[in-house]
Amino acid sequence: MPTVAGVEVEGRHWIGGERVSSTRTFEDVSPIDEQVIAEIARGGADEAAEAVRAAHAAFPAWARTTREERARLLHAIADGVERRLERLAGVETTDNGALLRSHLRGVMPRVAHNFRFFADHLLGLGHDDFETRGHRNHVSWDPAGVCALITPWNAPLMLATWKIAPALAAGNTVVLKPAEWTPLTASLLADITVEAGLPDGVFNVVQGYGQEAGAALVADPRVKRVSFTGSVPTAQRIAAAVAPNLTPMSLELGGKSPLIVFADADLDLAVDLAVEQYDNAGQVCLAGTRLLVEEPIAEEFTARFLAKAGALVQGDPRDPATDIGPNIHRKHVDRVDGFVRRALDAGAKPLIGGGPNTDLGGLYYRPTLLTGAAPGSEILTEEVFGPVLTLQTFRTEDEAVDEANGTRFGLAATLATGSPERAERVSARLVAGTVWVNCFFVRDLRAPFGGARHSGVGREGGDWSFDFYCDVKNTVTAP
Ligand code: NAD
Repeated sequence: MPTVAGVEVEGRHWIGGERVSSTRTFEDVSPIDEQVIAEIARGGADEAAEAVRAAHAAFPAWARTTREERARLLHAIADGVERRLERLAGVETTDNGALLRSHLRGVMPRVAHNFRFFADHLLGLGHDDFETRGHRNHVSWDPAGVCALITPWNAPLMLATWKIAPALAAGNTVVLKPAEWTPLTASLLADITVEAGLPDGVFNVVQGYGQEAGAALVADPRVKRVSFTGSVPTAQRIAAAVAPNLTPMSLELGGKSPLIVFADADLDLAVDLAVEQYDNAGQVCLAGTRLLVEEPIAEEFTARFLAKAGALVQGDPRDPATDIGPNIHRKHVDRVDGFVRRALDAGAKPLIGGGPNTDLGGLYYRPTLLTGAAPGSEILTEEVFGPVLTLQTFRTEDEAVDEANGTRFGLAATLATGSPERAERVSARLVAGTVWVNCFFVRDLRAPFGGARHSGVGREGGDWSFDFYCDVKNTVTAP
């Protein structure tokens, strides 16, 4: 087995409680230095079918376990994650290039929390009993069956466990297909589930490319839920693939979120919020990449932003001094750069950045702020998913709201304002799954999470997750 960040990693699938090989493999490349770190099994239709078979066979017994038993096992998985925080953080940083300090302090503890939260939420799920003309209505949350979970590379284990934890808590069995650029921590999670005592076949991992393993998985008629986080074009393919089976889907997709700074905002806070949008090298679906700044403060805001952004340290994500690491893959950097090149060709100007950081090698894209982009142009309307922000000014609240709502997305929006009345007024008019006022990225698992328009279908979090992963049933009993 290869060793990554000092940890032995397994490149084979995890199906029915066993490691399973494929005849073909693919290379897993670290974005830190573009070195191959592991050979990963390249699953296809056969492996997907085998994993669904295992999950299907394990479902009846798992569905019959009590809520208390499932909650106990999810807490045991959380314990296993907490025991391996450093190892999981080191492997994921090597695999996806996100900052080691964020993985250690934020991401991996939240992975454990995902399991604990949904375990506890399960125990508190109500049954909503009520009477109709003396008849008793009893609402129950029945598990749905095999869940196919498809996840992206930008926050691999965090996003996967937002799905795995509620799916398992609800009494379902799971087949996870992690992103091919970041296959490793899902594989480590399989070992943690064994140690926790999860029965064979309840949790399965199929590795491989989306159009092979992923496509076969979501089209399988034995799959009763498809939960997907990723891009809009893939979501459209998945929606078409599940249509014949009418499989319920949850889709968490891309965004082009605004960060609106009003003249009455605390400017230091607004600048901090804006610079924060470069986190994870801009590979955050929720990032407020469109800075909309009220005209009277635009000059002052821009000067302060450039001073702060200019001081960001770009480099190896394992170094505690680093603020911005690499982007995920050469193909992705080319895509990000393509957006910037086309915007510059069309007349936009870089106030900072504007291309790859050639001192560091290919995958480190300089934090970029573009101004002067043509209204309605691609750079102002399409998701770049890199450290690229745009700056626009506005004169009135109406103008700000129109511009904020002016894309096909609706994932999130951030406001900086000193006026609670304005915050309430503007929030009510924004099309977004989440609005943050004078803050960013504060996320409570009890809250609904998802996107409007092309940013998604459905909501995850709290009861919303159980609503999706269960066949909710009402039993009406005569007096
Ligand atoms: P992607 O759509 O390319 O891939 C996501 C996953 O889908 C991968 O595991 C991939 O292998 C799989 N896949 C690809 N084709 C498939 C198919 N035909 N059938 C089944 N599975 C298939 O997305 P990505 O580039 O990995 O991720 C970046 C995107 O994810 C961005 O758009 C980002 O905004 C979005 N995202 C959204 C959220 C959210 O919560 N809304 C969170 C993180 C990322």
